[in-house]
Amino acid sequence: MKLLAVLMLLAAPATAQPLPAPNLPQYDLLLRGGHVIDARNHVDAAMDVAIKDGRIARVAAGLKPADAIKTIDVRGLIVTPGLIDLHVHVYNGTGERGSYAGDLSVPPDGFTFRNGVTTVVDAGSSGWRNFPDFKDRIIDRSKTRVLAMLNIVGAGMRGGGYEQNTADMDGEATAGMAARYPGVIVGIKTAHFNGPEWTPVEQAVIAGTKANLPVMVDFGADRPTRPLYDLLTEKLRPGDIYTHMYSGLRQEQDPLTLGPSRGFIEGRARGIWFDTGTGGGSFKWSLAVPMIGQGFRPDSLSTDLHVDSMNGATKDILNVASKLMALGLRLSEVVADMTAHPAREIRRDDLGNLSVGAIADVAVLKVEKGHFGFTDMVNTRVDGTQKLVAELTIRRGRLVYDLDGLSALPWNGPQGDTHLDSYWTVFPRPVPRPGDTVLH
Ligand SMILES: [Zn+2]
Repeated sequence: MKLLAVLMLLAAPATAQPLPAPNLPQYDLLLRGGHVIDARNHVDAAMDVAIKDGRIARVAAGLKPADAIKTIDVRGLIVTPGLIDLHVHVYNGTGERGSYAGDLSVPPDGFTFRNGVTTVVDAGSSGWRNFPDFKDRIIDRSKTRVLAMLNIVGAGMRGGGYEQNTADMDGEATAGMAARYPGVIVGIKTAHFNGPEWTPVEQAVIAGTKANLPVMVDFGADRPTRPLYDLLTEKLRPGDIYTHMYSGLRQEQDPLTLGPSRGFIEGRARGIWFDTGTGGGSFKWSLAVPMIGQGFRPDSLSTDLHVDSMNGATKDILNVASKLMALGLRLSEVVADMTAHPAREIRRDDLGNLSVGAIADVAVLKVEKGHFGFTDMVNTRVDGTQKLVAELTIRRGRLVYDLDGLSALPWNGPQGDTHLDSYWTVFPRPVPRPGDTVLH
């Protein structure tokens, strides 16, 4: 048998994969001359970023184009870790109508790379019963890194009949499913509950405690039997996440000061994270303006992306970031809120940074100057002078989005060494490299 195996190996046909060239440069891709913002590593300066084998190889000034297969000039642009959208709905494709495990969700790759996003967190579209279907249908087939928070409802986010059913809120079963997919299931979600009970929150905290994961809360209907103050000061644990922070639907705002309510202030003091989740009906200027004016800023920016929010006020995560810049947040702050901060909230500190050795997910952004209008859930407007646009997106070291063809050569000029293209781009169709696997 042993001899046969050796003979078979010797007789194996040559694959289409080109052999590595003997004098391959040190780096596959060099982003040269950009302004790097990497909150995790306290970098906010002009730097070059070098990538090799799908990972960050070096971040420094003065790196040489001769050392890279491909160099892209990104002068005047902002280079950041690939953005993380902490709250989206992407369990699309089941055919179920009126359901976030169906037609209300969007396919992730259609909305991510064009916004510099390389990681999304599906916030509770699936529960423990249908997570394996979600994983097979979406997570394993997407180029975007798709992570998930499990809905505390076993059936997931499929409308009232399911989501109000307290009998299907099982913290133990939810924790059991989370334990089967560490690093992919990164949280527990409760949402849309209208009843007077604490059941969904309590079961979500049981699941989160057992699985050692954060709980994200969309607090549903405002009920006097379960006040927001108690949620943030007693029921949730430090490290849990309150999304839809500027919705105004559930006592987020103090009616007298128009700043954050007492629950918000005390919740933040004990370590609750606050997330935008602007969505279709969860962001109002009448909250965001005074609350940010009084210093109550988000810990993370997220869209709550779905079929309505993407065409409504939210649009995309760069629009959310531009809105907050219009209210005075600095570029470095909104970048941190889309990279290192959400990574910390889901305890995936390996993501959202440009540390040497990190998977090379990178966004190159442009700050457009001009006159722009930004809207909210009640269609009122704030004007701004800056808007973020994604120019390039890099996933696992390879270019997956290039708005203005910064990496491309004029069509009628020399095309250079195309046989090494697959080391740094997916355009056009590259030859896959050996050992390529989906990393989550
Ligand atoms: Zn949502």
